[in-house]
Amino acid sequence: MANRKVVVLPGDDAAPEAMEATMEVLGALELPIDYLEFPPGDQWVRGETDARARKAIDESDTTLFGSTSGKTTSIGYLRWGKQTYANVRPAKWSPGYKSPMAHPEGIDFVIVRENIEDLYLGLEGPLHDLAPLKLQSRILRGPLDTSQTGIYAIKVITERNTRRVADFACKLALKRKRAGGKGKLTCTSKYNMLREADGFFRKIVEETAANYPELKYEQFIVDDFARRVVASPHELDVVVMPNLYGDILSDAAAGTIGGLGLAPSGCYGDDYAYFESVHGTAPDIMGMGIINPTATMLSAALMLEYLGLEDAAKRFEAAVRKVYADGRVLTPDQGGKARTMEFARAVVANLQG
Ligand code: ATP
Repeated sequence: MANRKVVVLPGDDAAPEAMEATMEVLGALELPIDYLEFPPGDQWVRGETDARARKAIDESDTTLFGSTSGKTTSIGYLRWGKQTYANVRPAKWSPGYKSPMAHPEGIDFVIVRENIEDLYLGLEGPLHDLAPLKLQSRILRGPLDTSQTGIYAIKVITERNTRRVADFACKLALKRKRAGGKGKLTCTSKYNMLREADGFFRKIVEETAANYPELKYEQFIVDDFARRVVASPHELDVVVMPNLYGDILSDAAAGTIGGLGLAPSGCYGDDYAYFESVHGTAPDIMGMGIINPTATMLSAALMLEYLGLEDAAKRFEAAVRKVYADGRVLTPDQGGKARTMEFARAVVANLQG
């Protein structure tokens, strides 16, 4: 079999430091993969590098992505161009993770965030642009006053996209059930207030879940769900939600296991997937060599699984978890003093056995 092709986009600010550590481990695993590594975003030549990256993405099996603050521009192509509609964000506690919870043992759930629509389509503008539409507000029981100085933002929920993300979440819950999981799908949105848009999301998810009688199904209004993430995360399994709530609540989910440094993600479409940490570019610790690379490393492990390299994925993940169980080489966000590359070397040392 030919080598797999992986595009590596290290990202911006402190993200490339986490990527360097991750590449150290991937290199040590000696896998049948050709990596095409791009420079960090601040070295991108406007337009030119983005065009090269898009071509490389088209010719690749997958992309490993560091976070971007806007300099690494091809994120838009990875998401909307490649229609990676399901953003899978696991929150799984492991011994040694510095969780603020009294009993983090057994926290193991996944947020499936719709990744390409909702309020994230950049449909914003001056309120008075809406005047010709003569919109009637259900809440105000009358017309929207567009004479005010203000801005609107448009939220879009489509049937096609909701159905496919819901179906993806159901299949994931089923896969987890076969591996001993709870076999439960939870849907959350603000369907009591946004009756049309979020109500539609809930209705489509409900309909989709009905095709999977092996799964339990439940739904909560998103504010109630936020409380549940904190109060009873152990009861969750796979949770599907619109884009904005998923963005916010997956940071909260990461908080339950010990913070953003620990939370990986994969963004899946029907024909392509890319992998990135949940966290942003951590600009406040840029250049300090202390960013926790765990989230990027576990994203790379998800990537290996996607590429069909399951054994390598398991070895990678087990080596990371062993560093935490040992507790000697941890980065400052986890209460340790280790630097990013020291952590990487500790993971490499654990690959052996
Ligand atoms: P975005 O909106 O792009 O998701 P954000 O505003 O959530 O970004 P982050 O870059 O995720 O911001 O950082 C939030 C805080 O968490 C910062 O103080 C940052 O240093 C810290 N942080 C994020 N990721 C890590 C990490 N991997 N290791 C250590 N600290 C981190």
